[in-house]
Amino acid sequence: MTQPRLPSIDLLHLHGEAQEAFHEKAANTARSQFGREVFVRGVVEVSNYCRENCSYCGMRRSNRTLERFRADHEQLAELLIHHRPASITDVNIQAGEDPVAVREVVLPLIQTLRRETDLGVSVCLGSLSQSMYADLKEAGASIYIIKFEIADPNLYAKLESPGKFDERIANICHLANTSWRVSSGFIAGLPGQSDEQLLGNFALAAQLPLDGCSVSPFIPGEETPLANERIGDIDLTLNCMAALRLMRPDWVIPSVSALNLADTGSGYRRGLRTGANLVTINLTPADVRENYLLYKRERFIMTEERILNAVAAEGLEPSRQSLADFYAARHVNGKHSTPAKPLEQAAQA
Ligand code: SAM
Repeated sequence: MTQPRLPSIDLLHLHGEAQEAFHEKAANTARSQFGREVFVRGVVEVSNYCRENCSYCGMRRSNRTLERFRADHEQLAELLIHHRPASITDVNIQAGEDPVAVREVVLPLIQTLRRETDLGVSVCLGSLSQSMYADLKEAGASIYIIKFEIADPNLYAKLESPGKFDERIANICHLANTSWRVSSGFIAGLPGQSDEQLLGNFALAAQLPLDGCSVSPFIPGEETPLANERIGDIDLTLNCMAALRLMRPDWVIPSVSALNLADTGSGYRRGLRTGANLVTINLTPADVRENYLLYKRERFIMTEERILNAVAAEGLEPSRQSLADFYAARHVNGKHSTPAKPLEQAAQA
């Protein structure tokens, strides 16, 4: 494989016409790789219990103001089997880091979905034991979303990101080496993040055995130590997304809902304009959604209507192939297209 093109810091700070041309180049790269189709998944947020204490996240364990919930897997199964939007081909099951929810909610939900539907299943559940990862795979999930958050180990520790940096990277490598399709990601515009630290995210992402990667703007989370910090810059975030697309044309890159918080109402569509090829419809039942507090209680809920309108407005169309089937077909003879780097190399990036 040719060396990935790492961006320069000037590229990440582009504005005006040069920025537009940069984004257009990234969007054209995505279109030549994936055509006009974007993957459409639904997300259900199944627990806001979390044993981690990330300074930026409203679900951190020190947040005693939050009413904690675990969803009922039968209620979610009913919703996803009988009342899901016709456009979704995959479902992503997300939670705080909560092994109890994995056992009581996620595993039975995956088993039911795999039995009753043809939905692909991805999970975003954080750092778990290897046996729990194996149980999730056995139940029928095939994609694991686990962001490395911050490539700089010092900033990672300072912001109390999940567990230890080396463990998070080791988990990413373990998942890829046990035939999960792994999507990772990082946060742009964190308080105290230098240009050099931002660039480090690209170097790390390029070395990890990933199938996809996201960039989310930092959103000052309610009830967190960073609540009064400045929101991540939307242009910086979109430039990171474009740079990621040009670095790895083959990756699946989502347009994340936080883009709409960083640029009210239009950030999401601008994400699609930088070469994102995955959108997410929020299907979390309204009664628990407010307590799934990543950022603020007031959320910009990505309904089916909003998502499909955004996709159509950008001249794109929903893929009929699920992301899970796409990945399965792409990996010839069960081999991963990107060889996994040894952990030591990845962690030193
Ligand atoms: N617990 C799982 C994990 O650790 O991967 C998944 C859930 S976690 C809440 C999902 C993601 O939300 C994290 O990976 C983090 O990047 C993102 N997140 C949380 N708070 C954020 C904030 N204030 N700004 C941007 N992203 C945030």
